[in-house]
Amino acid sequence: MSSWRDTTCGALSEADVGKRVTLAGWVDTRRDHGGLVFIDLRDFSGKVQLVVNTPEVAKEIRNEFVVQVEGEVVNRAPEAVNPNLSTGGIEVRVEALRIVSRSTPLPFQVGDDVDDVLRLRYRWLDMRSDRMQRNLRLSHTVIAGIRRAMDDMGFVDVWTPSMTKGTPEGARDFLVPIRLQPGTFYALAQSPQLFKQLCMIGGLDRYYQIATCWRDEDLRADRQFEFRQLDLEMSFVDREDVLDVMEEAVVGAFVAAGREPPPRPFPRLGYAEAMAKYGSDKPDLRFGLEIEDATELTRASEFGVFKSAPTVRYIVAPRAYSRAELGRLEEIAKEWGAKGLAYLVNDGGELRSPIAKYLSEDELKQLQPQPGNTALFVADEEATVSRVLGGLRLHLARELELMETGEELFHWIVDFPLFERDEDTGQWTFLHHPFTAPMPGHEGFEADPGSALSQHYDLIWNGWELGSGSIRIHDADMQQAVFRVMGMPEEEQHAKFGFLLEALAMGAPPHGGFAMGIERFVTRMAGEPDLRQIVAFPKIASGSDPLTGGPTPMPDSVLKELGIRALQAQAPDDR
Ligand code: ASP
Repeated sequence: MSSWRDTTCGALSEADVGKRVTLAGWVDTRRDHGGLVFIDLRDFSGKVQLVVNTPEVAKEIRNEFVVQVEGEVVNRAPEAVNPNLSTGGIEVRVEALRIVSRSTPLPFQVGDDVDDVLRLRYRWLDMRSDRMQRNLRLSHTVIAGIRRAMDDMGFVDVWTPSMTKGTPEGARDFLVPIRLQPGTFYALAQSPQLFKQLCMIGGLDRYYQIATCWRDEDLRADRQFEFRQLDLEMSFVDREDVLDVMEEAVVGAFVAAGREPPPRPFPRLGYAEAMAKYGSDKPDLRFGLEIEDATELTRASEFGVFKSAPTVRYIVAPRAYSRAELGRLEEIAKEWGAKGLAYLVNDGGELRSPIAKYLSEDELKQLQPQPGNTALFVADEEATVSRVLGGLRLHLARELELMETGEELFHWIVDFPLFERDEDTGQWTFLHHPFTAPMPGHEGFEADPGSALSQHYDLIWNGWELGSGSIRIHDADMQQAVFRVMGMPEEEQHAKFGFLLEALAMGAPPHGGFAMGIERFVTRMAGEPDLRQIVAFPKIASGSDPLTGGPTPMPDSVLKELGIRALQAQAPDDR
């Protein structure tokens, strides 16, 4: 070891008793007992107790000072043994102590549960906590496991540009002004999508990368401006080949982290079934509360709302809700876009419901829940019903504490539609990205874009979308047909994607791939609620970086050189 230390704090144990050691690290805590001062010394490997019997030296020491000590490892007195600490049976009797580096008074104590923004402002302190040490190391371990698995499967790590001509992944681009060509911009890659396809056309066969991606979207618990993906692409494959490789990579990560991997194959669930049963394309399957359909049953109902609605569906919750509780649930349903929430409560065999009197015997027989349960109905357009009941399902599961089962459920959502209507423009647009191939048998999608299915698939872990992929279009004509459905004129197709169309026309192999969000994966793996807990230096919701104080305005002279002019700079208005 170096001249600074010959061992580390966490490495010491009873086996070292009698040894002289040199340690260096941070003062975690300091307790002054008059003649003796006890210090918990911390480094990356753990903590060990120091006993200093020269109080004049120890007096100066404060938390988070960096010190170097020499001393002897001794057994603790039996009553002083700390069974919660791996080094709890021993302590180091200090013979020489040197202050290496001092600390100003601290804004918070390391490991204290303080506001996230404060933690990020002083991330270097926060990083010394067990939590951050554990999370950053886990992130490393997971990536190492994934890399090992990809290497074993013959994937080649290829670096693709960060500054590119923009890849449509459905988000806004971050732009990079180019000084050498004032007034022009690159976009920061939203993903390496087109480059990895070009790698396949280039004959590479199996590409992967832990790729950084940039997307200008509102920041949320599971979203940062910049994030990494396990990005992969393969030639001469079908959907199942890609899913198989991804499962292998996930298992590799679990094994590397020393955890029981999820059973394979991960179940496959069709998009239409997921939307109907769970009201979501990323359903959490750890609990039931499945959505049931009552559209047919209520077609001729006396209850006008049911009779006239295009879709009537319901969820049965395992509780006989009170009036007040039902009022609250209705408010929630309305927030999701429902006009109302009808219900049938079976309170120990007695039915409570304002709509029961309109329902026929047959309807009641089929819809009435078991004693102690409540059926909650939404009647509306299908998409609204799905959204509302999907939202309500998650709310009920959270409230009834059905989610934290300890299970790790991975599954695939498959058979997505190829196109959907853009809510604002009414134009057909892609669901995944425009390079996704239609399902075999759906190649004639131009005639009826709304009913075509795609070869797109998503990976879900306990209700979190980890990533997406697809089998791609490998034919220039078909690629142009997709652009046409999206309303993109020929000139625009060539201006934006001319290079791709040319490449597709020069011998493109069938290919497909996937991208999984690394930070989302590690966040779940760490059992953390949001990405900020596993990213070393994340940004907060306003887009600011509390540590460096970015982003900042730039002097006009700099902007001028780039050929741009800033309107007034805007201060962040939230966190
Ligand atoms: N480029 C896609 C994404 O970033 C993933 C893929 O289709 O492989 O979501």
